[in-house]
Amino acid sequence: MKNEELATAMNGQWPMVNDQYNHIAICAHVNPDGDAIGSSLALKHYFERKGKEATVVVPNIFPDFLKWMPGADCILIYTNPKHQEQIKSAIGKADLIVVCDLNQPNRFADLEKDIMQSPAPRFLIDHHLDPADFCQVTVSHPEMCATGEVICHLLHQRGELDDISINEAICLYTAMMCDTGAFSFNSNRAVIYEYISHLLAHGIDKDQIYRNVFWTASEARLRLQGYLLYVNMKMLHDRHTAIITLTNDERRRFKVKNGDTEGIVNMPLQILGLRLSIFINEDTEHPGTMKLSLRSVGDFPCDQMASRFFGGGGHKNASGGKLQCSMPEAIEKVKAAIDSYADMLK
Ligand code: 5GP
Ligand code: MN
Repeated sequence: MKNEELATAMNGQWPMVNDQYNHIAICAHVNPDGDAIGSSLALKHYFERKGKEATVVVPNIFPDFLKWMPGADCILIYTNPKHQEQIKSAIGKADLIVVCDLNQPNRFADLEKDIMQSPAPRFLIDHHLDPADFCQVTVSHPEMCATGEVICHLLHQRGELDDISINEAICLYTAMMCDTGAFSFNSNRAVIYEYISHLLAHGIDKDQIYRNVFWTASEARLRLQGYLLYVNMKMLHDRHTAIITLTNDERRRFKVKNGDTEGIVNMPLQILGLRLSIFINEDTEHPGTMKLSLRSVGDFPCDQMASRFFGGGGHKNASGGKLQCSMPEAIEKVKAAIDSYADMLK
């Protein structure tokens, strides 16, 4: 089917009620965050309510602080050997693949080949800038705060926002809350709060959701935070930039669990005048790979720096990338990248 025909068959932008699709695989990006997991699970609950079979598949593990979410225990994880068979079967029989919260197929990491080789049409729902052309239908809204908001918008357009279940509402709220730091950045558009008022009307406990995600920490996480800020945070004062590092050796020393480092990269931005914060984090699943998280305040383009220097991308104020090298080499490369933006950072 050609794009336009498919789009029509998919009922404009929203294939969900089209009887043609009954086995749906929902796939999100590597290192799935709250928006990726929340949006994917919201879609799963939605499709199941419509009587369809829907499976969420992600490339690798997601943080412990998202495990309470309704449906999270059914998520299939590509790096888990026990899930391999089910993933093969779910993608094998999928007649539709919904791609959630990513803009390039390489963001599927190890899952990319299986998804891109499937004959099922792909339907992208996302909010990252400049989506690549790899799906038959693309719904991309970079102005929106989260993929969760894109889904609220689509449901609202269809007049379905009042019909959703409480589980859909919980997942959509969590998705938007996570991508906006609990509505503390990228969250000034009034319509977000109109959607939230619908979600509250479905009975969600937003205070409990906040505690589950942002105010639940292990002793290890708190001690790690102290250590990273006190010992490992290096300030480049003349560049208004902070760099924090974490190796797998340190991770073992602090008994760090998956998700314990979430949000660390934002902490230096509390310092008045700071413009850029970079967290260099050795990959637990691929030792020797350094994952980079970039955060900025104001106009500094993290996405540009991430794509020019770290093979990554993202949003203007929040991006990520990777380097294949040792930690000391990564620090040098990061400093060189920062120096090349000296004009903007002075
Ligand atoms: P985080 O620092 O939380 O891992 O990622 C921040 C943002 O950057 C997210 O919106 C994520 O989608 C994006 N991002 C992270 N890593 C990559 C990457 O390797 N490539 C691209 N294109 N975007 C990334
Ligand atoms: Mn997102």
